[in-house]
Amino acid sequence: MSHKFNLDHASRLDDPGRLALFTPEIFLPHLTLPPSPVLLDIGTGTGFYLPVLSRLAGPQGMVWAVDAQPDAVRLATRKVGEAGLSNVEVIGSEEGSLPLPDHSVDFALLAFVFHELEQPGALFTDLGRVLRPGGTVGIADWNRQDRDKGPPPAEIPDLGATRDLFRAHGFQEAWADTRGRYCNLFLLRRGPANPGR
Ligand code: SAM
Repeated sequence: MSHKFNLDHASRLDDPGRLALFTPEIFLPHLTLPPSPVLLDIGTGTGFYLPVLSRLAGPQGMVWAVDAQPDAVRLATRKVGEAGLSNVEVIGSEEGSLPLPDHSVDFALLAFVFHELEQPGALFTDLGRVLRPGGTVGIADWNRQDRDKGPPPAEIPDLGATRDLFRAHGFQEAWADTRGRYCNLFLLRRGPANPGR
């Protein structure tokens, strides 16, 4: 059973050492962002990755940051204000839907969120709606190996089932790294569903 990150431990998300574990920039060699891109941080938490995303979007682009927990929206909003991230908007979202217009996002990030999704199918259906043609999704999440940090491996969805879900919702893997010590990384592109792969 998935459960949401307990924001009583919000300071853990703000540990700068997390950038060695994962940074959204890891996807950059594998994707081409348009000029003035619109980025989306799904499950932003405290907004730890927002400074990186804000920089990637640049002054003409923008970042939407969403979270299903009101406390996360409050914490991320505070971070955006303190850091002066003028191209970032933080808003609340529902479990299986995104409060954004159709075909409005070039790149969506789910960093350490996938294993918390209670309705992954609904969220991926809605992701398909909000992504622009050619848009991409970057996913970083804990793997199921024994490790010295992160949630218990038993709480992490099976890798095969995860990939089946991507395909069933019309996403293809443009790039993946599932051999890391802690995390699995996926870069997904919309494409024809191919459940036979
Ligand atoms: N992405 C941030 C990071 O890596 O620093 C936060 C990671 S935290 C472990 C996961 C966050 O995802 C929590 O703030 C949780 O509320 C949020 N979350 C979980 N399921 C969600 C959903 N369906 N929609 C939006 N946010 C969600």
